[in-house]
Amino acid sequence: MEVSYHDIVLVGGGCAGLRAAIAAVEAWPESTVACVSKVYPMRSHTVSAEGGAAAVTRDDDSLDLHAYDTLKGSDFLADQDAVETFVEEAAGELVQLEHWGCPWSREPDGRVAVRWFGGMSVQRTWFATDKTGFHMLHALFQTSLKHDRIVRFDEFFVTKLLVDGGQVRGVAALDIRTGEMHAVLGRAVIICTGGAGRVFPFTTNASIKSGDGMAIAYRAGIPLKDMEFVQYHPTGLPGTGILITEASRGEGGYLLNSEGERFLQRYVPNKMELGPRDMISRAIVQEMQAGRAFKGAYGEYVHLDLRHLGEKAIDKKLPFVRELVRNYVGIDPVHEPIPVRPVVHYMMGGIDTDVMGATELPGLFAAGEVAAVSINGANRLGSNSLTECLVFGRRAGLAAVEFSRGTDDGKEGPLLEQAKAEGARIEALRGKSGSEKISQLRREMNLAMERGCGVFREESEMQATVQTLAQLRGRFADLGLADSSKIFNTELVAALELGHLIDVAEVVANTALARKESRGAHTRTDYPNRLDAEYLKHSRVRFAPEGPRLDYTPVTITRWQPEERKY
Ligand SMILES: Cc1cc2nc3c(=O)[nH]c(=O)nc-3n(C[C@H](O)[C@H](O)[C@H](O)COP(=O)(O)OP(=O)(O)OC[C@H]3O[C@@H](n4cnc5c(N)ncnc54)[C@H](O)[C@@H]3O)c2cc1C
Repeated sequence: MEVSYHDIVLVGGGCAGLRAAIAAVEAWPESTVACVSKVYPMRSHTVSAEGGAAAVTRDDDSLDLHAYDTLKGSDFLADQDAVETFVEEAAGELVQLEHWGCPWSREPDGRVAVRWFGGMSVQRTWFATDKTGFHMLHALFQTSLKHDRIVRFDEFFVTKLLVDGGQVRGVAALDIRTGEMHAVLGRAVIICTGGAGRVFPFTTNASIKSGDGMAIAYRAGIPLKDMEFVQYHPTGLPGTGILITEASRGEGGYLLNSEGERFLQRYVPNKMELGPRDMISRAIVQEMQAGRAFKGAYGEYVHLDLRHLGEKAIDKKLPFVRELVRNYVGIDPVHEPIPVRPVVHYMMGGIDTDVMGATELPGLFAAGEVAAVSINGANRLGSNSLTECLVFGRRAGLAAVEFSRGTDDGKEGPLLEQAKAEGARIEALRGKSGSEKISQLRREMNLAMERGCGVFREESEMQATVQTLAQLRGRFADLGLADSSKIFNTELVAALELGHLIDVAEVVANTALARKESRGAHTRTDYPNRLDAEYLKHSRVRFAPEGPRLDYTPVTITRWQPEERKY
């Protein structure tokens, strides 16, 4: 087993991870930061973000308004201290990215352009055409390359936190290329592993988004927060789940039912296509239930119509949408409406952290989609996530520096023992005989989650999902793997990911079952109202051998009292 030593170990090379790495080495130039990523950093899911990143920069806008929009979007479950920090630091981060080379789109007068996004009261979303994530990640990645103290471990799959003396001191990682275990030791660890959309069958999320960081933290006894809140984006392509960015509505696109009607007038009359995602996704499903949707080879759908925008505007502001629709649907959105349906997109919940990214476990920090700090509460507003990765990625990097400087290296012996034991566990899985198949268990998990924890939820279906997941956990022990090779054993990686997915699915389903109200993206047909007296609180789940253990913590309220959420 190989061992390496660093000041800070960072897991994840996406937007949050790279921002944290740069913050750490800039604050402490002599430090070494290990950046461990299961894919080459530019392949992180951030690269596929399209629409943009929100921050207040215009005269018609204010920090209070951005905070209020975010809180209202969250159905008042977001922590208000975190939201205030977020809006204050947002613009500085986007300007910093410009200085690192991110080519933000411009107005004719030279100012950075802003566009509409759902649930935002004014135009405040910065963008780089509709390839924002690609350009942001590029700017971060090339900046990270300037720092030779950021040491990369590409295609290393982290499976476990190494903890000794009540403090995290590194991670165990499988080198996918060689099949060997590696202990990456450091005095602080930052988890930036992104979301877990792959728990569901139909998602915009890359197949690498398997909730690894959430599951690894959960298994180390750290609570996951607000995991019942899963965001459906209203406009995914049927079949593939490829996202058609909200910017297409921000730039003026319409949603139409099979009768050619802009049906949102019945659901979000004042915001129409610029309503928040939870409400528009529910509206589309209700149109389907009322028989006003189209039927296609991949189920029902509605239309997203961009034709009235014209070819010039589409090519200038939404070139990637045109490219995607041409390549994956075989039609041109300049001339035909796009078939769309709601699709799982984002996890509002995650590892419970404070505003510096600190978790309950000393030395462990988390930021980005994997964390719940929480600014998203029960429903995230589009374009807040990329900015969240920057603001809280930087903060986690700085906090990890401070922690790392103030502590010792600890004892190596127990850490290497743990890493060896982890290596043995993985070795036992490689080529293991058993009667269950990864693909079959994953499929059953996906379908159970869609049935019980979809756009609309109901007690008996959720109970059935919880039971199915418990059975799947049992069957997972009898998994059979055909590939016993060491080099690039992708079957082994898929098996490890499946274990993480089942952990996350169990947490989502159990918290959803326990929240007997409707709030944000969590909509129960049997409890249709928001019940603040009982449920204005964060759920938190810890791992226990007998099943997820649930408790609740209060929501931090500073200046905004919860009110009815109407658009
Ligand atoms: C299609 C799409 C479009 C989006 N568009 C927008 C948008 O326009 N605006 C917006 O604000 N948000 C958008 N979002 C959401 C936003 O892009 C993500 O929430 C954000 O990019 C997540 O960044 P991250 O750094 O937290 O994680 P990611 O970018 O997902 O990176 C995770 C990193 O962790 C690593 N990793 C994971 N597991 C392991 C492991 N076990 N071992 C080692 N490494 C591991 C991966 O290799 C990767 O480097 C979009 C999301 C999608 C899916």
